[in-house]
Amino acid sequence: MTQKFDVVVIGAGPGGYVAAIKAAQLGLSTACIEKYTDKEGKLALGGTCLNVGCIPSKALLDSSWKFHEAQDGFAIHGINHAGVTMDVPAMVGRKANIVKGLTSGVATLFKANGVTSLQGHGKLLAGKKVELTKPDGTVEIIEAENVILASGSRPIDIPPAPVDQKVIVDSTGALEFQSVPKRLGVIGAGVIGLELGSVWSRLGAEVTVLEALDTFLMAADTAVSKEALKTLTKQGLDIKLGARVTGSKVNGEEVVVTYTDANGEQTITFDKLIVAVGRRPVTTDLLAADCGVTLDERGFVFVDDHCATSVPGVFAIGDVVRGMMLAHKASEEGIMVVERIKGHKTEMNYDLIPSVIYTHPEIAWVGKTEQALKAEGVEVNVGTFPFAASGRAMAANDTGGFVKVIADAKTDRVLGVHVIGPSAAELVQQGAIGMEFGTSAEDLGMMVFSHPTLSEALHEAALAVNGGAIHIANRKKR
Ligand code: FAD
Ligand code: AMP
Repeated sequence: MTQKFDVVVIGAGPGGYVAAIKAAQLGLSTACIEKYTDKEGKLALGGTCLNVGCIPSKALLDSSWKFHEAQDGFAIHGINHAGVTMDVPAMVGRKANIVKGLTSGVATLFKANGVTSLQGHGKLLAGKKVELTKPDGTVEIIEAENVILASGSRPIDIPPAPVDQKVIVDSTGALEFQSVPKRLGVIGAGVIGLELGSVWSRLGAEVTVLEALDTFLMAADTAVSKEALKTLTKQGLDIKLGARVTGSKVNGEEVVVTYTDANGEQTITFDKLIVAVGRRPVTTDLLAADCGVTLDERGFVFVDDHCATSVPGVFAIGDVVRGMMLAHKASEEGIMVVERIKGHKTEMNYDLIPSVIYTHPEIAWVGKTEQALKAEGVEVNVGTFPFAASGRAMAANDTGGFVKVIADAKTDRVLGVHVIGPSAAELVQQGAIGMEFGTSAEDLGMMVFSHPTLSEALHEAALAVNGGAIHIANRKKR
């Protein structure tokens, strides 16, 4: 008998699994199709994010930061100990356990919420039918009232550096090194390149980042990207801007990379090379030719502001559609789509999706940059507060960076919060909450913040917008 569901989701990443759970919670009969298997060949839910993305990268970032602190950061606290060593397989093993716990947690959530988990490859056919090809090769046709495509993304390959997952790796391979490479190359100074470069640099690798663009972290506020470049360089990352990789040759255990910069052609040799030049949507064998769903000119599934495709009842969310490739963007799109299927008028605020880079210091922002606002002709007031003036940051010996709050000069409404420094991601989220409710800088300034906290830096930056900071000299006078 043909299985029939109110909602069939293809892909169980943070877009798909969240959509499936929400749909079941709202009383819709729901199935979620996923094909990804772990090293033991078992179905692993959670997508890129849980298996080879957000979570494993943060696990390695946290481990490597602790090692770095143990080596270089404890003496100032009076903790003297010699001979700190790193057991890389143990670090990678810890990461694997975290991944296992979380992916099996999604399976438990599916059971608890009544989501039918189907293993195999899903393909949308005409008439909202879905073809499921199971691991044993058998094919089943499933009928759906609504289909949500959540097939995600995969790393982009570039011909000058073909990934072999041995010497030249992508982000997935870079999470699996069993020893610290002596000379590590990273192509691309984007979020993933900087995070993975930081992990291995903290463990002792000499890291060179080759970035084709002349501008560093173009999406970030200029003040933040300048500070980030300075700090990461000081930490030992050799970031070469305007360096476009044109070729590579693997010779046994090493790779010779050719790139061009302002001085012409250069070569450099690495023991490992990470290719981190971005990600592209996964649409391989996802759509039957007559299913009616179209792609945009960049190969993403074409959707409107509410993630509806060109076929009524078929939606697409997350990395496979336009917009930022972020787990929280994917999840919120999933919630929006399911609530709209149920008849709610849910909207998603695409203007307030926070961005985070988990280097140390962390880099995070929400809303617009000062340069973007000025380009739009918006007059702004800016308040900045350095962590060097924060008692809590001093206590933690973590005083690099600052908080920058940007407000409309006419209305005082906060239009951007940009942080580089300790717990930047958490501080920016406070800004995002305020901005969602239309906060002014004055509103933030009038709130009571606990002392001593890093959050006080946000308070002070908001006060500084109108010349009222207490713990630094104000640039703007009241
Ligand atoms: P995915 O997570 O890619 O999931 C799609 C799933 O669909 C996959 O499991 C795939 O196997 C399955 N699938 C595809 N096609 C089919 C099919 N036809 N049939 C069945 N199953 C199919 N984002 C953040 O927000 N914060 C971070 O800190 C962060 N760090 C990252 C670090 C790294 C190293 C990487 C690579 C990514 C990181 N990201 C981060 C990005 C984040 O992982 C993605 O934005 C997010 O996973 C996208 O979710 P998704 O559900 O759209 O797709
Ligand atoms: P992101 O898209 O944020 O992951 O960043 C990827 C980065 O890789 C971008 O900043 C690109 O400019 C950079 N990039 C892409 N191709 C090359 C190349 N051949 N050599 C050096 N950098 C590259």
